[in-house]
Amino acid sequence: MTIKVLDKTTIQHLHSGQVIVDLEAIVKELIENSLDANATSIEVVFINNGLESIQVKDDGDGIEENDRLCVAKRHYTSKLVKFDDLESISSYGFRGEALNSMCAISENAIIMTKTKEDVIGKQYDVDKEGFISNEKPTNSISKSGTNVTLYKPFYNLPVRRQLAKKNIPQSTRKFQDLIVQYALAHPNVRFSSHQARDTVGYIPNTGNNSWIKPATTSIEKTIGIIYGSQLANAVERFVETDIHHPTLTIDMILPKRNSDPSVIYKGGDRVFVYVNQRPINYVKSELKELVTSVRNRYRENVGLNENNRKNPFMYIDIQMSPDEYDVNIDPNKTTIYFQNKQLIFNLVDKILDTVYSNKIDSLFIKQTE
Ligand code: ADP
Ligand code: MG
Repeated sequence: MTIKVLDKTTIQHLHSGQVIVDLEAIVKELIENSLDANATSIEVVFINNGLESIQVKDDGDGIEENDRLCVAKRHYTSKLVKFDDLESISSYGFRGEALNSMCAISENAIIMTKTKEDVIGKQYDVDKEGFISNEKPTNSISKSGTNVTLYKPFYNLPVRRQLAKKNIPQSTRKFQDLIVQYALAHPNVRFSSHQARDTVGYIPNTGNNSWIKPATTSIEKTIGIIYGSQLANAVERFVETDIHHPTLTIDMILPKRNSDPSVIYKGGDRVFVYVNQRPINYVKSELKELVTSVRNRYRENVGLNENNRKNPFMYIDIQMSPDEYDVNIDPNKTTIYFQNKQLIFNLVDKILDTVYSNKIDSLFIKQTE
């Protein structure tokens, strides 16, 4: 047996497939980059369900000229300098590997960007290693922002591409669910998505293949726009800070006491769990019990029997200092460990007591718009 070192390209390929596991991961990483760049409008365009291309356009800060050469190089990030910074970082990204990985698994990648200081935007073709192979001016961005387009994702990972093709019916739904996750947590940002079958005859912003969530002033209004006024009227928001641990605040939207279950359960499982607006996979994380306790309390409150295992609509954002949790567990950062999860559970219980039992609710600052 001979032990040899892998060449750089092989390492990059092996790694990229783990960072970008499926088409949804591309959408997620691009949306997060746009949010990190302070975008107020994010548009996602899918051609042939993302198999031909996925494009995310934002009106964020854009990428400064000096940074552009490194934008898609592995481990180049503008968000983190040293490991200790993780304890205070609030951006979605910090590993500097998403763009690099996305370019590595796509046939072609184009980044257009303009800062507000630039007179004109620039278009960059990025190669598999994350180097810029070509650049030219572009007029497609008026004020500031960034458009990233990835063509033929997984073209070089045939099994993954085959799987993506097979999963088209589910992934259309998953893309939408993913966009809604971010749209709910960022009411002030306009989100839109467009699906087109092919590049020929594609007209954005029209037909049933488009979805738009305008910027709003509250999560409650966003719920009304996305799910309709019936649900918006059936839920209520509570914001509570821990008196003994003021760095912890829970922002929750829950079904109102005695609200109609047919409204609350309509549309399937709608559970939104975040930590500092970062969507968390509650099934995979320590927050599963939290969802279960909301489910049980609502079920008991409306008198449904114990066999009802469906989750009611709920939105939970745990706002806490970044040094009290660790989100650097898997590359997509949807699993999380807490220093003291009991604090969170206690505070949520306190809210649930107020909503679903007869206790006085004067302790709560009920959020008004
Ligand atoms: P990370 O988000 O972990 O820093 P990425 O590979 O996702 O790593 O992005 C690398 C860098 O490219 C970011 O740190 C940021 O400076 C820049 N960037 C990526 N997307 C955008 C965007 N939409 N707008 C502005 N800058 C961006
Ligand atoms: Mg990123």
